[in-house]
Amino acid sequence: MAIRKIREDSDPILRKKSRPVTEFDERLFTLLDDMAETMYSVDGVGLAAVQVGVLRRVVVMDTGDGLIELINPEIVERGGEQVETEGCLSIPGKRGYTLRPAYVKVRAQNRKGQWCMYKGEGLKARCFCHEIDHLDGILFTDRLAPREKWPKEEKQEELTAK
Ligand code: ZN
Repeated sequence: MAIRKIREDSDPILRKKSRPVTEFDERLFTLLDDMAETMYSVDGVGLAAVQVGVLRRVVVMDTGDGLIELINPEIVERGGEQVETEGCLSIPGKRGYTLRPAYVKVRAQNRKGQWCMYKGEGLKARCFCHEIDHLDGILFTDRLAPREKWPKEEKQEELTAK
């Protein structure tokens, strides 16, 4: 396993569309292993292959309940909405409120090529959306919530007071 270099926002590759994975081989396994190691090395919760310079539809994620490997993922169901702050390993130092579905259902292949279903709410739903967006060249800065949707100041104070 090896830590790969994370591409940052000035790199035009981040705006490119990733291609589907068709070969479930050693090369893919190495990519998945390296991506997980790279993500954990910087305390990230998700990483898309394009962020390490590989234009393939591959994502790794860990929002606290274990590593998930997503190959050729797609969102098949979404519901509700949430506005929370979001950041990106490829856009260091920047955070912003994004508008995302509160709940998503994702269909993706695992490293054996089998199709699996995943569900996520809250952070996990945001993470699925954020990483799958990367595969289409979309960054969280494209999903910023309009100001009227931002949480109210009182609400934020309430949350920090607890
Ligand atoms: Zn990102």
